[in-house]
Amino acid sequence: MRSVTVLGATGSVGSSTLDLIARAPGSFEVLALTAHRDVGKLAAAARRLGARHAVVADEACLPALRDALSGTGITAAGGEAAVVEAASMGADWTMAAIVGCAGLPAVMAALTGGRAVALANKEALVSAGSLMTAAATRSGATLLPVDSEHNAIFQCLAGQSLDRVRRIVLTASGGPFRAMPRDAMASVTPAEAVKHPNWSMGAKISVDSATMMNKGLELIEAFHLFPVGAERLEVIVHPQSVVHSMVEYVDGSTLAQMGPPDMRVPIAHALAWPDRMTGPCPPLDLAAIGRLDFEAPDETRFPALRLARQALMAGGGTPAILNAANEVAVAAFLAGSIGFLDIAAIVDDTLQSYDPPAPQTLDEVFAIDREARVVADRLLEDVRH
Ligand code: NAD
Ligand code: MG
Repeated sequence: MRSVTVLGATGSVGSSTLDLIARAPGSFEVLALTAHRDVGKLAAAARRLGARHAVVADEACLPALRDALSGTGITAAGGEAAVVEAASMGADWTMAAIVGCAGLPAVMAALTGGRAVALANKEALVSAGSLMTAAATRSGATLLPVDSEHNAIFQCLAGQSLDRVRRIVLTASGGPFRAMPRDAMASVTPAEAVKHPNWSMGAKISVDSATMMNKGLELIEAFHLFPVGAERLEVIVHPQSVVHSMVEYVDGSTLAQMGPPDMRVPIAHALAWPDRMTGPCPPLDLAAIGRLDFEAPDETRFPALRLARQALMAGGGTPAILNAANEVAVAAFLAGSIGFLDIAAIVDDTLQSYDPPAPQTLDEVFAIDREARVVADRLLEDVRH
């Protein structure tokens, strides 16, 4: 029996993780589940899986959580510190599936424990990649990539030395506006932006896919997970989302990982690692899919990709600014207060108005994150409609 903790248990990745755990009775013991505010969903999941402990990040929701769990023997806690404590309970395997830089303290706590940490929370790695990989090295923790592209790369690397890698190619679906002229993007609605053609995901990452900032964040994520150098990381658009990424070796061989566009495939890989478990997804039907297309990304229509690459090359605190400004702009877009094209514009302007020294500590990362949010908020005021 492996003990598992799921951070962000009520979200899209968190729910998929719990689905896999529930399908493998007797294999996992659930230590802790955390959520932001969704008490009903969290309590139901904790009861269903027989979790030991449940935590809401928003302390105001704790009385409701206590009510919902009364008589079950499941302990309840609330507040950001309680989320970090849950991540420090020493689970053999922790899923980091909180969305945004808000998940960073808990991921760091899990990494410090020195066990397996399955990472979906890419924003944490973008903002504090060097600190996170250093913490993993110090504690001996294993970072298991859950993002489908990075999980694909991890599988294609299969322990091969990175100095035999010529290129890592991340595939991108291109999102719902892949073929849309830039002018038309000015008036797309949040509902249109979150309607991803292939994947069902949380709202924030769905908007990131639509702007292609998601692929930009993933370039930075890959830079930290697979240190082959930024110049060896490339992006190719692949609308069918069947090939999840590729690794090209110096001898000319390219290995690709394929699978249906269902996050339970990479999550199952991380959950069973280094073994394999039976997954619930129907097998890939290539005859029905018929063809696989590939095209170069268009950084003129999707400037977020260019901005992310610039942030990656600049290094230091720049990726944390990119991420924070993007989180602010995406939230404003989802709230209906700015347009779709304003997202990348606000990120661009924030990057240009703030240039901090490279962060050496987590506190310095949070200081940069906070300051970038202030700058982005100020820029928002100029475009808010
Ligand atoms: P989601 O919005 O569906 O779920 C987010 C989870 O985090 C929820 O459980 C929510 O309660 C919790 N949460 C939100 N804000 C919080 C806060 N301030 N403090 C504590 N908990 C908080 O998001 P998702 O789509 O599941 O994505 C989660 C992460 O995984 C993101 O970083 C995303 O980029 C990454 N990811 C998601 C997918 C996908 O298919 N959904 C694929 C690859 C990577
Ligand atoms: Mg991805």
